[in-house]
Amino acid sequence: INPSEEQIATFKAAGEAYAKQKAEWALLKDAQTVTADGKHFELAANIGTPKDVEGVNDNGAEAVGLYRTEFLYMDSQDFPTEDDQYEAYKAVLEGMNGKPVVVRTMDIGGDKELPYFDLPKEMNPFLGYRAIRLCLDRKEIFTTQLRALYRASVHGKLRIMFPMISSLEELLQAKAVCEEVKAELDTENIPYSKDVEVGMMIEVPSAAVISDVLAKHVDFFSIGTNDLIQYTCAVDRMNQKISYLYNQFNPAVLRLIKMVIENAHKEGKWAGMCGESAGDQRMIPILLGFGLDEFSMSPISILPARKLINSVSE
Ligand code: PEP
Ligand code: MG
Repeated sequence: INPSEEQIATFKAAGEAYAKQKAEWALLKDAQTVTADGKHFELAANIGTPKDVEGVNDNGAEAVGLYRTEFLYMDSQDFPTEDDQYEAYKAVLEGMNGKPVVVRTMDIGGDKELPYFDLPKEMNPFLGYRAIRLCLDRKEIFTTQLRALYRASVHGKLRIMFPMISSLEELLQAKAVCEEVKAELDTENIPYSKDVEVGMMIEVPSAAVISDVLAKHVDFFSIGTNDLIQYTCAVDRMNQKISYLYNQFNPAVLRLIKMVIENAHKEGKWAGMCGESAGDQRMIPILLGFGLDEFSMSPISILPARKLINSVSE
C-alpha cells in the first residue's frame, strides 16, 4: 500500500527485466538441449495431473520425467478404478505425442495421506508404510495401477518407475508383479506395448549404495534428491528449523549422485534426476559434469535450464 516513487521504479524495472528474460527463454522453446561442445541432454518435466501436459509442451519439454500419480488417488473419494487410471495415463501419453512419459507408481504415505484409506499412525511416517512397501503388501492396489498403465502403453512411449526402492528384493518383487500383469493381459488378449522401460527412483541411500547391483535389473534410474537428501543427511525435508542441514551440496549427497550415474552407465543404462536439484541453476553444471542423462523439473524451469546447458561445455 502506498509505495514510494522509488519502490515503484524498482519493481517496474524488475518486472521489465523479467519480461525481457522470459521473451529470451521463449525463443528456446523448440531448440535442442545441446552443450557448446555438442552433447545432448534430455530436458523433461515433472507433472501431477493430465492438465499439466499443456504447460509441459508450452515450455518445450522433451519428455515427462516424473508423473506423480498419487494425485489421482488424493483427488478421489475412493481408490481410482482401473478405467479411471487408464484414461488419465492415456491422456498424458497422447498429450505428449510420442515423447517419453515416466509414470511413477503410487507414492502414498509419508506426507501424502488418503481420506478413504486408514493408514496406521506411525512414529516416523517417512520411514514407514508407504510407496512400494504399501504396493507390495496390498497387491490389488498395485496390480490395478499396473494393468491401467500397460493398457495405456499403446497410446505413447511409456516408462514405468517404482518409488522408494530400498533393496534388490523389493525391485525384483515389483518387477515380478509387472510380469504377472502382462501375462494376465496376454490371456485376456488385451494389447500393450512390448517396449515399456521399467526403472526405479534412487531416493533411499541403501539403493544408491547398491546401485551397481540394481542397475543390472532396470532400464533406468531417476534420482529423487528431495528424499535422497532427507535420508542421507537425516534431516526432515519439512522441518524449517533444521533446513540449513538440508543441503544438496553436502559432499555425501554429491558422492552418492555421482556413484549412481556411474553405476548406471557401467551397465549401459541411463540415469535421470527428478528431484528439485535437477532444475537448480547452481546444480546443473555439476550434474552435467557427472554425466546425468536426463533432467526432470517443474515446467517453468525448463527454458532457463536449456539456456544454461546450451551455454556450457561438458
Ligand atoms: C524426490 O524424492 O526427489 C521426488 C522427486 O519425489 P517426491 O518429491 O514426490 O517425494
Ligand atoms: Mg520422493
